[in-house]
Amino acid sequence: MTQLPFSLAALMNCFTILFFTFVRQRTQKPQNKIFIGMTLVLALNAVSIAIEGALIPASKTSDSAFFAVKAAIYLYFLLHTALCPAFLLYVMAVTKRMTRLRLSSKFLLALPFIITEVGAVLNPLTHWIYYYDGSRTFTRCWGEWCIYGAAAFYFVISFILLMWSWQAMTRKRREALLYFFAVVLFGIVLQAVFEGIKSELFCESIGMMGIMIAVENEDDRLDALTGLGNRFAFQNDLNTALVSGQQLHLVELRITNADSIQRTTGTDNTKMLMELVAPYLRTKLPSYMIYIINPETLMLTVPDRKGMHAVELAGDIAARFRKPWNWQDTELPLRAVVLCAEVPWHVRSVSEALYMADSTVPENKEGQVLAGRDLSYLLRRAEIEAAVTRGLEQGNYFVCYQPTYHVDGTLHGAEALIRLKDPELGNLFPDEFIPAAERLGAIDDLDCVVLQHVCRLLATGIAEKTGLECINVNLSVLHCMQPDFIKRINDIVEEAGVSKHQINFEITESAAAEDYELLSSIIASLKQEGYQFSMDDFGTGYANMKAIYSFDFDVVKIDKSLLWNAGKNELGQVLLDNSVRMIRQMHRKILVEGVETRAQIELLRTLGVDYLQGYYFSKPIPEADFLALILNEDKEED
Ligand code: C2E
Ligand code: CA
Ligand code: CA
Repeated sequence: MTQLPFSLAALMNCFTILFFTFVRQRTQKPQNKIFIGMTLVLALNAVSIAIEGALIPASKTSDSAFFAVKAAIYLYFLLHTALCPAFLLYVMAVTKRMTRLRLSSKFLLALPFIITEVGAVLNPLTHWIYYYDGSRTFTRCWGEWCIYGAAAFYFVISFILLMWSWQAMTRKRREALLYFFAVVLFGIVLQAVFEGIKSELFCESIGMMGIMIAVENEDDRLDALTGLGNRFAFQNDLNTALVSGQQLHLVELRITNADSIQRTTGTDNTKMLMELVAPYLRTKLPSYMIYIINPETLMLTVPDRKGMHAVELAGDIAARFRKPWNWQDTELPLRAVVLCAEVPWHVRSVSEALYMADSTVPENKEGQVLAGRDLSYLLRRAEIEAAVTRGLEQGNYFVCYQPTYHVDGTLHGAEALIRLKDPELGNLFPDEFIPAAERLGAIDDLDCVVLQHVCRLLATGIAEKTGLECINVNLSVLHCMQPDFIKRINDIVEEAGVSKHQINFEITESAAAEDYELLSSIIASLKQEGYQFSMDDFGTGYANMKAIYSFDFDVVKIDKSLLWNAGKNELGQVLLDNSVRMIRQMHRKILVEGVETRAQIELLRTLGVDYLQGYYFSKPIPEADFLALILNEDKEED
């Protein structure tokens, strides 16, 4: 009689699982559907076993009870045979593996199921699996071993698949699936060892419960406002697709005027998206393929299979955005750019997809679909990242020098500017590869490469020979903030035996605003060692004023844009005049960058700046040319 409580408990578990699955509406994805199917099979199995357990005593004497028992057991075998293959299907859906199997492979995989299912259907005639003897007692036959064999086959394949897809799943999912394996095995072994304990169904339902909590649960994957997938879900799902070699299209929808719409309507972007765009997209594809990445950006993952035409879909969406949207009795002219990228051709990793979602889209493309070659900027980025790493391994970096002058035209110093000569991409400029190096965390290595070059040059005694006062080295603020920074810098300079005051570090303030105190203490200790400091790009950031008096800079470098604007209009002139006056009152030296004309030099002389740098004197040039230039000037002066 022990099977009755066990099967009723299993039945209750199944009801609980179904209740939450439907209440939470986890019913759309293929994975959800298989899960519900498995739970239903388990529930019906539990009912069969409960009927059997309840009626066995009566069945010995009553014909109708015996018939009911036989019918229940028949149904049990018909359905239970499908459980393990269904589990394999489920693992396939979760891991996105083997979705594109050939028909012959599918048939081979289904063969054990087909054979055992046919056995179960024909059993009343053949008695291959079980029969009832003269005393109406259930008796097993060899067919039952076949059923166990088939189950073991599907179980082992599911397990292998799980291991193979380890990288494609989050930890939570792996744990839940492994737990399912463990608890089901436990139930089977328990039932085999102790005749009276009918634990198999019960343990299966407990394992399903675990899967419901960890795999089917979407709470941490959904955007609370829209109910669409969030950034985290997008990352996970795309990673799964990439690891399992799935081909798909990413369709990105970027709303470009969300800000101004927000200002005119007073609603935030997300609310508007929820009420207008999300319902529209849901008419185009199931909501589990739609993700919200940031308030302006939605991503659609469209699998490359029959009936799904990502390019057409992208075109439809772009066309829809050429018409106004009705929202609370007003017409909103929402504008959007649609990007359509192929995975894994245009987008080869999750970080590339996020870059696509977060980077600015090319301008004036509203209402259009960007696809194919339009997306080459995504590929270029990946290529540059590869070149940055390759450059460090192969020593492809070199340094150019741009001389700086006193206002009277005599040599003052030079700025060291890094260049990358890549064997595949050719010469690259820092504007392109420095951001890549920052993303890769390689910027500190680059800064050190430059410092090493500079120290090697200074160690030749060139400064003493030519009257060069110092060489400026750019430092990334990200690098300065690292704990071993001061030691690393000192090691390089001391090893070269170079005097520290010949090195002038340039820091751009805009990025520094984060942690003023830390940066200020680092600058103070390096200044104590003897190094000089310049504030780079004055006039481009916002908090420059505060930085000038917070940090102990020797020189403030006024950005070229400030100089060039002074030549354009009166307002620009006022800005430059006052900046110079203010910095002088703070007792900092002033260097102006971007000097290209004689007239600019005259202007800067009357303003009373200290140093000049720009194409008028020289562009940044390779070391040999730079040496020739300053040695020559030296000679001319003699
Ligand atoms: P920056 O530090 O503001 O460097 C000055 C930039 O202005 C240089 O561009 C230089 O070629 C350019 N320039 C100088 N005079 C003139 C002029 O008269 N007219 C014009 N049109 N341009 C002029 P470059 O070498 O392309 O460097 C760009 C930026 O890359 C630098 O801006 C700096 O922020 C960064 N960078 C360069 N080398 C390094 C480095 O070794 N480490 C770090 N962290 N950043 C570097
Ligand atoms: Ca600089
Ligand atoms: Ca600068």
